[in-house]
Amino acid sequence: MSLPLAVPSLAPFPAPLPASLIFLAGVAVPFVLLHKARRGAEGECRRQTRMLEDEIVAHRRTHDELGRAKEAAEAANAAKTRYLVAVSHEIRSPLNAIYGYAQLLEREDAIPPAEAGGVIRRSSEHLTNLVEGLLDISRIESGVLQFRRDTVRLPALLDHIVDMFRMQAAAKNLTLDYTVDGMLPPFVRTDEKRLRQILINLLSNAIKYTQAGGAALTVRYRSQTAQIDVTDTGIGIAPEDMERIFEPFERGTSPDAAMQPGIGLGLAITRVLAGILGGEVTATSEVGRGSSFRLRMLLPEPMDAPASAPTHDRLVGYRGERRTILVIDDNAAQLVVVQHLLRPLDFHVFAATGGADGLALARRCTPDLVLLDVQLPGCSGWEIAARLRAMLGRAPRIVMVSANAHEYRAGGDGESDHDAFVSKPVDLDALLDTIGRQLGIDWIAAADESVGGSGDGASGGGGGGGATLPDAAAPYLETMRRHVKVGHVRAIATVLDDLEAGVPGSGGAVAEMRRMLENFDLRALARRIDDVA
Ligand code: ADP
Repeated sequence: MSLPLAVPSLAPFPAPLPASLIFLAGVAVPFVLLHKARRGAEGECRRQTRMLEDEIVAHRRTHDELGRAKEAAEAANAAKTRYLVAVSHEIRSPLNAIYGYAQLLEREDAIPPAEAGGVIRRSSEHLTNLVEGLLDISRIESGVLQFRRDTVRLPALLDHIVDMFRMQAAAKNLTLDYTVDGMLPPFVRTDEKRLRQILINLLSNAIKYTQAGGAALTVRYRSQTAQIDVTDTGIGIAPEDMERIFEPFERGTSPDAAMQPGIGLGLAITRVLAGILGGEVTATSEVGRGSSFRLRMLLPEPMDAPASAPTHDRLVGYRGERRTILVIDDNAAQLVVVQHLLRPLDFHVFAATGGADGLALARRCTPDLVLLDVQLPGCSGWEIAARLRAMLGRAPRIVMVSANAHEYRAGGDGESDHDAFVSKPVDLDALLDTIGRQLGIDWIAAADESVGGSGDGASGGGGGGGATLPDAAAPYLETMRRHVKVGHVRAIATVLDDLEAGVPGSGGAVAEMRRMLENFDLRALARRIDDVA
């Protein structure tokens, strides 16, 4: 078959006619070459076939991947639609409440303004939380979430949060127990807002998903680590839902849970925030019996605790010279709120609704601090900050205020025109905290004032704002408690007048409670009533 064998087989021919050999060679060589060429062509053909086959496999793979991507895109699209429906539903209910109560107020119907105000405020808070939650998710996804290291009064923060939920629990006839197992450090370092957000998410779920019994918050602290358990006797969570409820927009499969409002963001945010703050959230649950969420996180104590960091719901003023604050904001309601907060604390407050007015006023009043809205009509707050600096130098502190969290710029670096940034809607405690830090204010807390009078334990309760009031005050306090619960501001004011007139020596406490009432700080007022009772 192959030519090399064929050539020797020609050997018996009489020799050697070189010409014939040449002839044979002439015939054989093309054969060899032809054969080689054929083999080369066959090899090439096989290679091409293999390449084609590879290409077909690759095409098939691409096709499968495209199919999967299409399915994923369709699923994402469906999730987005579900999400938009859920978000619109979440927005619509508080919006309806605000719309309804605003109309009632406009008609001057017989609705107590304090009640309407309460509903409107709570609805606004709900909307704010919703927007913040959505922004957080987007910030977490794009990796731009900013964290702070605040010095936080841990016991006060926990008290505050439990207070926030007492009413909600009571409204559903649920108990709310709060236990500190051991000792808590007075201060820890963490991002206060995020820690509060985690605890609020867990506690609000505990109350939302519980119809009978109650919820409990238990805190333990050891070796710079806090273990915070939020347990409830609610509907529980099915084992197959335990992991997925931590995914965004997942609400589990329970029909009972679906009946409650929600968009399935709380736990997703909670888990991510806990992780970023150096902790973790885990859960155990039994359907029909209740759930328990555990937050474990590192909460180091600061090296040097601040000497005076009073709880704001008891602030009554500050030591030292009177300070001047200029507020520049085109939102009249915001101006009123800030003035109501700052004037009773003895600040000189000036207000302007635009940049030009603000600059003119700043020239006249030389403020110690300017609260400056970022979005002003016809100009930007950043521009006004620069002009204030040019006009007044570095002396006044400038705190930017904005409803758009994406505009966040920390400031205070010596190069920026501003010194701090506060988000709208303004958390009044946080605002006072910022003002206090910027101006180095030495606050006077209500507790400080009362300590000055009589000793703590005895019932003496003399002159101005003593620790407790005499027994004769009890019925007044009880009536006031009822009014505070429903936010009936005018009725509280009347009881305060009666208390002052009817119980000698109650003047100090009454004055202090009036200040709280003027600030609409009913939470602080409720606590004060408990303290003096
Ligand atoms: P949302 O409450 O808005 O649905 P979350 O992310 O906070 O969103 O919770 C996700 C889901 O986890 C809830 O829909 C609910 O099914 C379940 N869940 C969360 N907390 C509890 C709880 N304490 N008891 C029972 N189910 C809970």
